[in-house]
Amino acid sequence: STLQSSALARVKPSATLAVTAQARALKAEGRDVIGLGAGEPDFDTPENIKAAAIDAIRRGETKYTDVDGIPQLKAAIVAKFARENGLTYTAAQIHVAPGGKPVLYNALVATLSPGDEVIVPAPYWVSYPDMVLLAGGEPVTVVGQEADGFKLRPEVLEAAITPRTKWLILNSPSNPTGAAYTRAELEAIAEVLRRHPQVWVMTDDMYEHLIYGDFDYTTIAQVAPDLYDRVLTINGVSKAYAMTGWRIGYAGGPKPLIDLMRKVASQTTSNPSSISQWAAVEALNGPQDFIAERGQAFQARRDLVVSMLNQANGIRCPNPEGAFYVYPSIEGLIGKTTPGGVVIDSDETFTSELLNAEGVAVVQGSAFGLSPYFRISYATSETVLEEACTRIQRFCAGLR
Ligand code: PLP
Repeated sequence: STLQSSALARVKPSATLAVTAQARALKAEGRDVIGLGAGEPDFDTPENIKAAAIDAIRRGETKYTDVDGIPQLKAAIVAKFARENGLTYTAAQIHVAPGGKPVLYNALVATLSPGDEVIVPAPYWVSYPDMVLLAGGEPVTVVGQEADGFKLRPEVLEAAITPRTKWLILNSPSNPTGAAYTRAELEAIAEVLRRHPQVWVMTDDMYEHLIYGDFDYTTIAQVAPDLYDRVLTINGVSKAYAMTGWRIGYAGGPKPLIDLMRKVASQTTSNPSSISQWAAVEALNGPQDFIAERGQAFQARRDLVVSMLNQANGIRCPNPEGAFYVYPSIEGLIGKTTPGGVVIDSDETFTSELLNAEGVAVVQGSAFGLSPYFRISYATSETVLEEACTRIQRFCAGLR
């Protein structure tokens, strides 16, 4: 018998972590490598949040807590949903877990039976299909085309729904494209869902606060209140408050679902770190001004990267509404040859040749379910981004 379970055998390791490891290995050999693979803000956690955690330690908030969150954090989350999203949840409708990832996973494990289908719009965050497989379900991917801003069209959704469809996963702004759904686009998706009462919606709003220009951010439970009883609204402090290492994610949803998710957590992780929970209380209740300040820095970086990539031969880079990713097309480079004689036949070849030739680490579009594209994470300084884009331009100019 093999060591690996049949469920885990269906799962592939994270492609983004593989690129990060490859870049680290080249660096260790002394190569000058710029890593644009990781999806993590480069800013430090704000001081008031760190201070709240230190206070919590000093007060002795160092014991087990309620499995799915302390009452103070649930209250802060209830207030956040009301203030920022116009959504009414009670504390009994809130789930807190060690990151957005476990929130998604707890919901899938709580609800999927073998054969249940989950619609995952591509380009997707790498973890969705594999989490569905690990939870025993079947991911059904549907593709959002570049011409539609990489977003799911209502008729494509309609065609993908079957009697076994349990969930639709939405992610706006999106990792990896940065695309965000407008109110009208969410309304059109809601219209399809009204015809299929067996389908629940898991909306991953992790990048809500990374929105540029005057884009009007909305989430589906707000746009379609009649779907409230089958929507799980997922969010977290990782990206908005530069708290990736603290591990706090949360969700609001119908009480029967939240009860099932608590049951999963009670037999697996138990509560997220008590200290991180107190830090998250301060993140949500404390001053919010730095979100806008950091948003301006991110927007300047996006503008820089989009403009420089569009000046590279053969690359076409859409201008996304949010998150800190761009998803450029390399359609114009397919079939070209590197000075070393390698034919660029896929986005995988492109990214590995780019890394070898210029030391720039990016992730191939095949990892996110749509080729030929690649993803850049621009959560790094403008100086580094400018150097990386200059190298990409040079690499593209050298292809024949
Ligand atoms: N959802 C999306 C779309 C993400 O990009 C990420 C992180 O990369 C997460 C969820 C996970 O967040 P957390 O670090 O809180 O688990």
